[in-house]
Amino acid sequence: MTPLEREIRSMIETDGPIPVDRYMELCLAHPRHGYYVTRDPFGARGDFVTAPEVSQMFGELIGAWAAVVWQQMGALERVHLIELGPGRGTLMADALRAVKALPKFHAAVSVHLVEVSPVLREMQEKALANAGVPVAWHQGIEEIPDGPTIAIANEFVDALPISQFIKDRDGWHVRMVGLVDDKLAFVAAPDPMLGLVGETGTTPVGTILERRYDRPISLLSRRIARQGGAALIVDYGHAESGFGDTLQAVREHKFAGLLEHPGEADLTAQVDFAAVADWAQRQGATTHGPLSQGEFLRRLGIEARAARLKANATEQQAADIDAALARLTAPDQMGELFKVLAIADPKLGPLSGFDT
Ligand code: SAH
Repeated sequence: MTPLEREIRSMIETDGPIPVDRYMELCLAHPRHGYYVTRDPFGARGDFVTAPEVSQMFGELIGAWAAVVWQQMGALERVHLIELGPGRGTLMADALRAVKALPKFHAAVSVHLVEVSPVLREMQEKALANAGVPVAWHQGIEEIPDGPTIAIANEFVDALPISQFIKDRDGWHVRMVGLVDDKLAFVAAPDPMLGLVGETGTTPVGTILERRYDRPISLLSRRIARQGGAALIVDYGHAESGFGDTLQAVREHKFAGLLEHPGEADLTAQVDFAAVADWAQRQGATTHGPLSQGEFLRRLGIEARAARLKANATEQQAADIDAALARLTAPDQMGELFKVLAIADPKLGPLSGFDT
């Protein structure tokens, strides 16, 4: 039994079952036993590999995108470059290296990283030690000083807690984690809810519905709508809202039981991009996309970038670059499932990569 399971059991014994969003939050971000708080989950020896860890091209192209947006914003003397959940700091390091060629932009940037994990924060400090720009760390977006913003969140939103509801004969119930026969198990809250928006009453018993209420998205969108700028949200997910259970646990590159290793497996849920766009718009921001990751990276010029890198590469390196290009853009790899949504200040107008 993991230390976090022991803690969750005692919570359930005294207070009753806990909702799925609370369970997810405890598993990922518990201050002592949370998955991200206690380890570096990335890379070949970790549990999963993210786009910036696949290839430097990913961060470089996002850096170039940020530079174009900065020009659209009027080439300001100061801009906050915010990253939510920066992992090992690889994306930001690659992005900043790529924009060194634009000294005015490089000089305008101050980096703000939002990170809950002390382990990853230390890795980010190392990755950005020679970046040549001021870097500050924050627990939440609220802490970042005001000002025009360019932001990026790669595989961050999938780690934010979701709520789940399950249909029974008497209506919809909040889905929770409780104890059944002394084992952690999914249970339905005893009281049915009156109804759910958009549900016609014809969905079968047992259907699961997910809802996300992403506070970081609301805060970021509000900031962008009021103070200017744009953000890229990159993640795996779907463009339209729908029914179904998308919660998954991954441990050592394999799917694991959702309730089996609390705190020791990565828990994520597919991002409902329609819901994220809706939150952003309610805060006064405009949204662009979502585009598939493959399409977005092609529009930013990933093929030309790969060709340039290959020009100075050994045969083995060239093969690795081709493999990384396919991994990031091919429809049967990350190219289709991963999507890119931009949240922007309506005053910016058409946005690089989306409308041009
Ligand atoms: N963007 C990185 C890492 C993705 S993993 C990459 O692409 O490689 C998710 C990241 O979000 C980790 O850095 C994790 O520690 C951080 N994180 C998860 N939940 C968070 C929260 N509620 N607040 C801030 N950071 C969080």
